[in-house]
Amino acid sequence: MSFDPIRLVRPEVRALTAYHAGPPPAAGAVKLDANESPFALGELLRGALADELAQALADVALHRYPDAEGRELRQLLAKDLGVTPDCLLLANGSDEAIQMLVMAVAGPGRAVLAPVPTFVVYELSARMQGLRFIGVPLGAGFLLDEAAIRAALARERPQLVFLAWPNNPTGRLYEEAAVARILQACAGELCDALVVVDEAYVAYSGRSFLPRLASHPNLVVFRTLSKIGLAGIRLGMIVASPALIGEINKVRMPYNVNALSQAAAQVVLRHADVVRRQAALVVAERERLSAALRAMPGIEVTPSDANFFLLRTDRSGDEVARGLLARGILVRDFSTAPYLAGCLRITVGAPSENDLLLSALADILGRGEATS
Ligand SMILES: *Cc1c(COP(=O)(O)O)cnc(C)c1O
Repeated sequence: MSFDPIRLVRPEVRALTAYHAGPPPAAGAVKLDANESPFALGELLRGALADELAQALADVALHRYPDAEGRELRQLLAKDLGVTPDCLLLANGSDEAIQMLVMAVAGPGRAVLAPVPTFVVYELSARMQGLRFIGVPLGAGFLLDEAAIRAALARERPQLVFLAWPNNPTGRLYEEAAVARILQACAGELCDALVVVDEAYVAYSGRSFLPRLASHPNLVVFRTLSKIGLAGIRLGMIVASPALIGEINKVRMPYNVNALSQAAAQVVLRHADVVRRQAALVVAERERLSAALRAMPGIEVTPSDANFFLLRTDRSGDEVARGLLARGILVRDFSTAPYLAGCLRITVGAPSENDLLLSALADILGRGEATS
């Protein structure tokens, strides 16, 4: 007689595929695969920030639980965002923010909707918690197909809608008025749904729905420190009305943001100017890369308001990704993902990394190869 423990796992969980990030890169690899900031914090301050950070981390009382509410950190973040702290909930990365919000609305027959392709954790989180996931394909140029979304909202009546703004993995920033119309449609016009505007890349887009929070009770804004140099500490946040934050807070596990992360974030937030300068450098590099990539024959580049590009070449995506890997450059191969045939996603790196990328691509595509 054999006992099969796997049978006890819910069918919707067994049907999932675990999220796989690649292994840690080899030393010296040019890491352009995860939309991180290429800059270690403190680089621009010649180590002063690094020293302050080291001291702050050394001072953390590791034998004590962290502040469960992250009061001091929330104060700092709220000030930075121009909201009151009761509009803010901290999460162990936006990934946990997504999970908490889905958990707060989950129930039989309930649904989550998002335009696709998009950030895969929305669908993963919905399915693992037993909700239906409705992916509405994006239209031409990876922009919103508003008619299709409106039809799906009316037909499926989701409780939660995710809009990554700019979107990942496409880099596109949907027209602001189109997003506003979806917010409206979800506020009783076509259905009753919370609309998350996920602003993970706001540092690179410069655009935000935060000013609309007060006038749109169904609006939820997500922020994260992951794409601006702190991916390692896992700090995301939910910004919404105090009433809604109060409800979501009930599904948050106590002490979800650890003491080291809270301390590190506080140091860095006191040096927001460093973070801003780094982001400005990345934006300048994005524009330089964009022009250089567009000048290369055989490459199709999707316009980006984020810190990465989605591109398609006239070779197979796999061939190009392997060619780059052989030259020590890691990118994200989406070429076999739905809606993304042949596509690679490449994060904007530091200037020298971007130079390496450009010459490697020229080399691989066999055109404009360096003659020196
Ligand atoms: C990277 C990314 C996140 C993940 O954020 P974490 O805070 O690192 O969990 C969330 N949303 C989008 C759209 C992203 O691209």
